[in-house]
Order: sequence, then structure tokens, then C-alpha cells
Amino acid sequence: MARKPIMAGNWKMNIDHVEATGLVEKLHYTLVDREWDPAKSEAVLCVPFTDLRTVRTLIDGDRLHFGLGAQDVSAHDNGAYTGEISTAMLSKLGVGYVIVGHSERREYHGETDEIVNAKATKALSAGLTPIICVGEGLDVRKAGQHVEHTLAQVRGALAGLTAEQVASLVIAYEPIWAIGTGEVATAADAQEVCGAIRKEVAALYDEPTAEAVRIQYGGSVKSGNVAEIMGQPDIDGALVGGASLKPEEFAAIVCFY
Ligand code: PGA
Repeated sequence: MARKPIMAGNWKMNIDHVEATGLVEKLHYTLVDREWDPAKSEAVLCVPFTDLRTVRTLIDGDRLHFGLGAQDVSAHDNGAYTGEISTAMLSKLGVGYVIVGHSERREYHGETDEIVNAKATKALSAGLTPIICVGEGLDVRKAGQHVEHTLAQVRGALAGLTAEQVASLVIAYEPIWAIGTGEVATAADAQEVCGAIRKEVAALYDEPTAEAVRIQYGGSVKSGNVAEIMGQPDIDGALVGGASLKPEEFAAIVCFY
């Protein structure tokens, strides 16, 4: 079965809940103008926790075809974890996706592969779809270790998950040196690693699981480079930071086809 392209906007720590209304509405109207066909690509908005309620209400009220995602989740169940947000809380808000293991969380919050694995496992058991981020820094790329490094992160993140769970989730390959820098991996560079990830999933599980899992590229994706990136056989979508804050840009990315 063909994999449906998935374009996820990662707003990061931008846009408060008041600003979110304007951004979502503008995005919607821009997509209407572009005659977006939601059967051809999926659009997911990964917004700050404080915006989730507002964006959920907009999606429901206007019957918008956007998936709703959070940018992180706790690996724990409800309890004495000050400042954390649980999968149960996200589910109750109608959140369908959650980014786990973004390089900014790995770097600034010390998230290890074990923590990423625990969060992905918790998300799946609550019915949320994790978008698991992996990818190498510049030093690793320069040393030619990018494939090995990224596959080790993939193995760590997927540890203990069933084939069925893996088939349902999303893996985002984001080379850290390409995030927010304007420096895009070439389509061939992105394909090299995304293809290796799919082969690794086939080796860890089986061919049908590898064929089903969706793999995104992320790192300075824009309207101008999305077509080439999406033209690669193992790239099924994009995780978009900066450009997701600009409705025209993100609409063009969603309508890449
Ligand atoms: P960028 O961010 O598109 O601004 O490079 C991507 C990401 O960090 O998910």
C-alpha cells in the first residue's frame, strides 16, 4: 500500500494561543486557494502545549483537515512530575501526534535514546502516533559516521516495539547541521539516510513493516526544495520548523504533489 505523505509543522516555542488562531486560519484559507486535496497529503500541526486547546477547537469548529500534534510528552503516567504533560492529558485534548527525541530536546534536555524509547512506547500505548526524530551533528557527518550514528538512534528508539507499532509511527531524519541554518541536505544525502533507515527497519522487523513506516526528512525544508526532497523513494514527508510559521510557505509544502 502506498504511504501517504505527511507534512508536519513544528512551531517550536513560537506562537501563543492568540496568535495561533490567525496562523491556522490563514493556513486554511491558503490551502483552500491552492485547492489542497487532503487525500494526497496529510498536514499535522505540532504546536506548543499552551496552544493545543485553541487549535483543537479551530480544527473541530471549522472541520479543518489538520492533524494535531504536541512537541514532547512525559515518559511517565500522571503523578508527581512537576512541569510534565502526560499522554493521557494529550489524548484527552484530541492530540493525535507527538514529536519525540527532537535534537533540541536531546541537546538541551539531555534526552537519551532510552528516554526517547520510553516516550515513544508510552505514546503508542496511549494511541498517539510518535514522530521519532533522529539525525547526526556536523562532526559526525564530517567523520562519515552519519548512517551508523542515525541507525543506532533508530534501534534505540524502537527497542521493544512490535512490528505493528513500528508500521504505524513516523521517523523523522533531521541532520542537526541542517536545522534552522538554511543549510539543506541534498536530496541524495537525505535519501541515503532515509533509505538506510528503511532497510534497518526491514532487518529489525520485516519487509511489510519497512514498507509501511513513514520516514520524513527535516532541516530547512521550504517551498523551493520540497519537490526534490519528496521525489526521493524513501522520503514520505517533511518535518518543518521555520517555514511552518509562514502560512504561504507551509501551504506550498503541504501541496508539494
Ligand atoms: P527547520 O527546523 O525547518 O527550521 O530547519 C526543522 C526542525 O527542527 O524540525
